[in-house]
Amino acid sequence: MKERYDVLIIGGGVVGSAVAREMARYQLKIGVLEKELDVCYETSGRNSAVLHGGFAYDPGTKKAECCVEGCLEFDAVAKELDVPFKRTGKVLVGNTGEDLASLKRTLETGRINGSRGLEIIGEKRLHELVPAVIGNFALYSPNSGILDPFQYTIALAENAKKNGVDYYFDHEVTGIRRLPDQAYELSTAQGSFLTRWVVNSAGLGCGKISEMLGIPGYRIDGSKGDYIVLDKRVGPLLPMPVYPVPSNTYMGIHVTPTVDGNVTVGPNAEYVDDFTYYGVPQKSMDYLAQSASTLWPHIRTSDYIRNYSGILPKWLDENGVVQDFVIEARDEAPHTINLVGIESPGLTGALPIARRAVRLMAERETLYPNASFNPRREGIIRFSEQNDERKAQLIRENPDYGELVCRCERVTKAELLQAVHNPLGVHTMAGIKYRTRSMMGRCQGGYCQMRVARMICEETGCDIRDVLYARAGSSLFTGRVRE
Ligand SMILES: Cc1cc2nc3c(=O)[nH]c(=O)nc-3n(C[C@H](O)[C@H](O)[C@H](O)COP(=O)(O)OP(=O)(O)OC[C@H]3O[C@@H](n4cnc5c(N)ncnc54)[C@H](O)[C@@H]3O)c2cc1C
Repeated sequence: MKERYDVLIIGGGVVGSAVAREMARYQLKIGVLEKELDVCYETSGRNSAVLHGGFAYDPGTKKAECCVEGCLEFDAVAKELDVPFKRTGKVLVGNTGEDLASLKRTLETGRINGSRGLEIIGEKRLHELVPAVIGNFALYSPNSGILDPFQYTIALAENAKKNGVDYYFDHEVTGIRRLPDQAYELSTAQGSFLTRWVVNSAGLGCGKISEMLGIPGYRIDGSKGDYIVLDKRVGPLLPMPVYPVPSNTYMGIHVTPTVDGNVTVGPNAEYVDDFTYYGVPQKSMDYLAQSASTLWPHIRTSDYIRNYSGILPKWLDENGVVQDFVIEARDEAPHTINLVGIESPGLTGALPIARRAVRLMAERETLYPNASFNPRREGIIRFSEQNDERKAQLIRENPDYGELVCRCERVTKAELLQAVHNPLGVHTMAGIKYRTRSMMGRCQGGYCQMRVARMICEETGCDIRDVLYARAGSSLFTGRVRE
């Protein structure tokens, strides 16, 4: 039997980590049980990375409220957590009379939701904003933006950890039992944990955890979206995300600049039963490219550097209709906060969702502020983004800043060493990649991957055969061919 907690959070994605961080503002002993080896291996690291403006959701829904709240506060959040973010604006492009009517309805929905600055713009203004875009008019949302979903999720988790939250990786919750003294016992292959409160923020696993808590009946369907990542060469040609006219349930295939200067193309939407398969078939990439080329003409196979996919956990009612976020505390499962169906805009709305979870708890017991809570977190300084004077100063202070390890993304040894010694204790290759951008450039690690693997071994004392790419069992090396 392991330690006893006030709160155990199941799932350490962007929502679970936001909940952990917001609960750490109070005098509570908090733990996060995460089945993967890092915080952003599931949906939180597999999305469009857009800070949504809040016009695509029905008024009065939690999706609309959390999205608008999360969007408006993000400048301050990004500063506090030291994460990259750009309020680029975004356009939804149309061509026909039907498109115009639909965009006008979307604008009206946005106004009711509190989304700021929305306007319909004509062709001239549209082309001033995004010169290459193909379209006659657009709904322009100046408040939408782009962020780094890996850095954001990691930052929330690191800040939670710094404020006393315990993170347990490779801890999949397989059973939950309510004990006679009102506590819960959570079982994992690594042992059991006791806790007074349980938070279900298990993403794609939310239906299963809900059932374990004694709240059956949530049907979770997975909607898989594939993406292509384009080389930074085309980044300057796309100043903001360009979307088609959305339907009620789907935003459509769009092109999106990343905060680091790449462009992503996607996603399609396909209902899937397997929540573990993230492969991207060629026919899907062809379809994405063909569809997005009707909006933006710069998609060429020679610029493809990677693909990825993500799966949205959609809560559907008995008629198959997609429902709102569930943020609930139910009597039949006392002392639990159940977060179900946190699909898009869960990235934008993570902190507002977390605050609502805390509010539900505070309505049921007195929470005492944690006087030592510090909301600030410092990330790893990106050497390549500093001016010459600062670069020289950094090298003087630490010569490891003078050694480039990843040539494409210009990541230095000093940054990689900080990443290997990250506060969450993550030592996978993907963990280092998401913290530094090494292996994310044009060569996708062809040059630096082996160097990073060696660095992990040298710093942690592990054998090269124990270095994992991301998940349990994802060994990169099986042995030596030459001693
Ligand atoms: C294609 C796509 C595009 C999207 N685009 C956007 C966008 O542009 N903007 C936006 O705001 N949102 C977007 N989203 C939505 C957003 O990514 C999600 O809403 C958000 O990441 C959900 O976070 P989460 O923490 O709930 O889920 P996750 O990140 O999936 O975290 C849940 C965690 O729970 C863990 N877990 C599951 N079961 C167990 C268990 N039994 N025991 C222990 N741990 C467990 C998982 O390993 C996982 O790490 C998009 C999503 C997709 C798929």
